[in-house]
Amino acid sequence: MFVDKVRITVVGGRGGDGAVAFHREKYVASGGPDGGDGGHGGSVILRVNDNLSTLLDFRYKRKYAAQAGANGAGRKMSGKRGEPLIVEVPRGTVVRDAESNRIIVDMSTGEDFVIAKGGRGGWGNAHYATPTRQVPRFAKAGLKGQERDVILELKLLADVGLVGFPNVGKSTLLSVTSNARPKIANYHFTTLFPNLGVIYVDEGVSFVMADIPGIIEGAAEGAGLGHDFLRHIDRCRLLVHVVDVSGSEGRDPVEDFNAICDELANYSVDLSNRPMIVAANKCDLLPPDSDNLARLRAVVEAAGCELYEISAATTQGTKNLMRVVAERLRTLPPVTVYEPDYEEPGAEAVNPEDFVIEHEGSTWLITGEWLSRLVENINFDDYESRNYFDTQLRKSGLFARLEEMGIQDGDTVDIYDLEFEYMR
Ligand code: GDP
Ligand code: MG
Repeated sequence: MFVDKVRITVVGGRGGDGAVAFHREKYVASGGPDGGDGGHGGSVILRVNDNLSTLLDFRYKRKYAAQAGANGAGRKMSGKRGEPLIVEVPRGTVVRDAESNRIIVDMSTGEDFVIAKGGRGGWGNAHYATPTRQVPRFAKAGLKGQERDVILELKLLADVGLVGFPNVGKSTLLSVTSNARPKIANYHFTTLFPNLGVIYVDEGVSFVMADIPGIIEGAAEGAGLGHDFLRHIDRCRLLVHVVDVSGSEGRDPVEDFNAICDELANYSVDLSNRPMIVAANKCDLLPPDSDNLARLRAVVEAAGCELYEISAATTQGTKNLMRVVAERLRTLPPVTVYEPDYEEPGAEAVNPEDFVIEHEGSTWLITGEWLSRLVENINFDDYESRNYFDTQLRKSGLFARLEEMGIQDGDTVDIYDLEFEYMR
């Protein structure tokens, strides 16, 4: 029921089929082939939308398929390209391959990512017309789009994570210091969802703080809900550890503090080394003769952290705490972005000499994994890039093979979306 991890299927649109058609005109017995090419299928594209903060929408829709390319038609009419399908995700969504569980992309930078490529449209028979073959009755079918199952995982990109036992006042602190996020607050399981708030300290000084409820002892071993929530704080730059110093719930603040620290360490060493500030909350309830504050301060300072006395309920000290937090954030490195540890299947095994040459009259259609990747990465508007492309093709032995097979100057070479006249 808690949605921060969903599995979806993305499917690129199928390429349209090439057409088999013949030119018809009155008084002309049999016209030449004029079947147009199929349009390429649309791709599924992931895009960051900063107004989204959950993966809830994906709970109701699991399959995302882009539009197919239209079939080619007579009179050399190419089929329309399939429209790309834009799938919006919250910033910070990590996308994994469902099978290997490897990270494909981290949607933190805001760049679009093609998650499923559309299929290539097939050639119409017009392509296959040659002086000797005037009536080719074949055309190519469009190719299927890429289909893959992926897992979307959302880790909040909060700068600050609020940790602490239940009922110590985390939600209260967030609510009195930040602007509320009504969309989240209205979920019926608000208390189970990490609440995000933006805190404005001063003009130009603001940060995101996440209230991460549900940390309970044993959570790191997977008991209860805690573990899920802990994953959300992986990326915080700073933890604010809220402790109920009043002992109003019958617990001891020092024990609480140590228990949560152990919890964090169990979850990840990395997390327990995260800078931490301690907020001694509910100071308004502190009995005058209590030594709670002094004991807690001693332990906290021994652990190398600073302690601030606050009352979230009366907002005493909260503004100052937020100022301190903002000051501290200024000195801390930005949130980590994962490097994708994923490569397209077979990426290692691609051999530049592995291409297929299809030959119809003066047209040469060349396909191959290595080629398709090369073409994708070349900016053909740029002279240097074109030169690089040419050099790579020569190196791969493609031109030599074409010559062996009898290519002539002026013949057409078709490599994926690229068509050019061959010149020695
Ligand atoms: P959370 O579980 O850590 O999010 O705790 P909540 O923010 O939901 O607070 C639990 C209870 O403690 C609520 O009834 C709050 O009103 C109360 N509370 C929180 N902070 C303070 C405080 O500083 N003083 C007093 N007296 N009550 C507080
Ligand atoms: Mg709460």
